[in-house]
Amino acid sequence: MQIKGAFRLFRVAGIDVLLHWTWFLVALIQIQHRAQSYNSLAWNVLEYLALFLIVLLHEFGHALACRSVGGQAHTILLWPLGGVAMVSPPPRPGANLWCLAAGPLVNVMLAVLFFGVGLVAHMTGALVAHPDLAKLFTMVALINLVLLIFNLLPVYPLDGGQILRAILWFFLGPSTSLIVASIMGFVGVGLLILLALWMQSVWTGILCVFVLFSCWQGLQQGLAMLRMAKAPRHAGFACPGCGAAPRVYPAWQCGQCRTKFDTFATGARCPGCGALFDLTRCTACGQAHAMSAWPVRVPALPDSSGC
Ligand SMILES: [Zn+2]
Ligand SMILES: [Zn+2]
Ligand SMILES: [Zn+2]
Repeated sequence: MQIKGAFRLFRVAGIDVLLHWTWFLVALIQIQHRAQSYNSLAWNVLEYLALFLIVLLHEFGHALACRSVGGQAHTILLWPLGGVAMVSPPPRPGANLWCLAAGPLVNVMLAVLFFGVGLVAHMTGALVAHPDLAKLFTMVALINLVLLIFNLLPVYPLDGGQILRAILWFFLGPSTSLIVASIMGFVGVGLLILLALWMQSVWTGILCVFVLFSCWQGLQQGLAMLRMAKAPRHAGFACPGCGAAPRVYPAWQCGQCRTKFDTFATGARCPGCGALFDLTRCTACGQAHAMSAWPVRVPALPDSSGC
């Protein structure tokens, strides 16, 4: 997957780890900003790399959990606001819940690990002779804890908000749960904005803009899903995977020109730019199949006219 401004760092277990160039910019600012906290700048660099590693492990938690339930996960993007695992779990609430919970679960395991190591170090006095190492260790453990708490805030699209949506999905269905979680996200972001003002934190402010934008998108997506659920179905087509007939609805979006269209009305061709798509994703089960596999083959009826 190509993302503008990002380059591939490495590939593990078939997952590309991409780094956005702005990450270096923010790393530089943050390392400079905390330059006085250690005896040498090398410790600041280590601290930032530890943050990078924690975020990476968290995203791998999402990606591998998504794979374990049969979903797709090929890309992890790291950028100044943290990380994004580009995952598409199967459209089931349980699969979504596991895929979402696995990220914060990694931080819980790290917290237990840090606590254990810290306890041993404290009892043996191992860190007393190395104040910089002790400071780094404390900071890294603290960063992990803050990330965990922050990720669990029930504000869409943070993990906590999406976990809330997956739980609501069991009771309200996919569209209404998304609408409710997005609206709750608007309330949550209001509180986050107050927090940003109180802390005078530019980063929290930027995050608020991102959350606001995502809540708006989530709300629009939920409303569109509701509308789609009311649309009639295409006769003559059925998903080769789950058998569901597709809706007569512009539920597909061109990855090149962003046009929304009904791929079963256009024969898998984007009406905006003319791009032809090899695979068509089922909106019911999430699997992708070639357009040629979708038409329902009606068995030929014996000719009854007799001529
Ligand atoms: Zn996460
Ligand atoms: Zn299907
Ligand atoms: Zn297009």
